[in-house]
Amino acid sequence: MNPATAWNFAAGPARLPDAVLERARDGLFVRGADGASALERPFTGDAFRATLHSARERLAQLLELPAGYRVLFLAGGAMQQFALVPMNLLGGAQRAAYADSGYWAQRAIAEARRYCEVVAAPGFAGAAPLAAPPAGPWDLPADCAYCHITPNETVDGLAYPALPDTGEVPLVADATSCLLTAPLDLARFGLLYASAQKNLGVAGLCVLVVRADLLERAAPAVPAALSYRRQVEADSCLNTPPTLAIHLAGLVFDWIAESGGLAAMGAANRRKAATLYAAIDGSGGFYRAPVAAAHRSPVNVRFQLADEALVEPFLAAAASRGLHNLRGHRQVGGLRASLYNAMPQAGADALAGFMADFARRRG
Ligand SMILES: *Cc1c(COP(=O)(O)O)cnc(C)c1O
Repeated sequence: MNPATAWNFAAGPARLPDAVLERARDGLFVRGADGASALERPFTGDAFRATLHSARERLAQLLELPAGYRVLFLAGGAMQQFALVPMNLLGGAQRAAYADSGYWAQRAIAEARRYCEVVAAPGFAGAAPLAAPPAGPWDLPADCAYCHITPNETVDGLAYPALPDTGEVPLVADATSCLLTAPLDLARFGLLYASAQKNLGVAGLCVLVVRADLLERAAPAVPAALSYRRQVEADSCLNTPPTLAIHLAGLVFDWIAESGGLAAMGAANRRKAATLYAAIDGSGGFYRAPVAAAHRSPVNVRFQLADEALVEPFLAAAASRGLHNLRGHRQVGGLRASLYNAMPQAGADALAGFMADFARRRG
């Protein structure tokens, strides 16, 4: 079904696991005895509710969800949450803390400024963000409603080596490019969210995990369908949820569980990343990884060519060898290979082999 020699390294929407594509083909587009396929069933009916509940159950198992947390499946992407987080979590507070770790953190900050005063969490304001903020305790003003971090910066190719300790201030994370890529201590977070098209399935869905006590903070003016509390009360079905994306997320969660869970995902992702960073660091300077070694993302490998004039020839030669979507984000340029859960080791090996070959021919 899939050409074995073509690999898609896009940052998102990204590759899906082979088993998920096959199950979707065989299961989603077929009508049952009720005259409906999974795409056609009402969201109020028992069949869709069973799909929703089993997806949630499987996700809770993968995450070892602690008691007192709720899972939401909402329509839309992560950027909607940049506004919905302050709308739902500020309560009476005027301020929230944000860590500026790069492109996506800055977009979250710009949106939050429309709702509250943004306090800079320890970081590196203004500097080129090539390292994560320091771990350990962060001394934050107690009147901050929450502290927002971006543990994996998809564009900058940067990941937090460890989570900060924000004390009494609830930690909120945009985990769009890292949720389910490795084990995670959920009890450290007040809320985290991830849009689905990187690691959880297809675009149109955002998964949220939220500590129940934070649900009481929503401003009265928050629209019902955008209120975390109202959606929790309505089982994520206050209005029509993205049923197809939820269905596919359930298939992805099943595949992760069958493949050994988050520990197995983490080990496989580290191995793929090590393959590519070794190809970069071992190239004698032909390729360069701009991010400090301890802070490199295991799933978004960013690199550059010492000779920038070789970027276009590199991309063209890679595509002719079946290696696609390696151009870096327009904001930072260079090259980027995204190696989420669904990318097999063989994809990383193929890219590393091509890189060595290209360096030999053009170095
Ligand atoms: C992709 C991405 C986003 C944007 O998600 P949308 O679903 O397009 O809104 C936000 N944050 C991070 C960390 C991302 O990787």
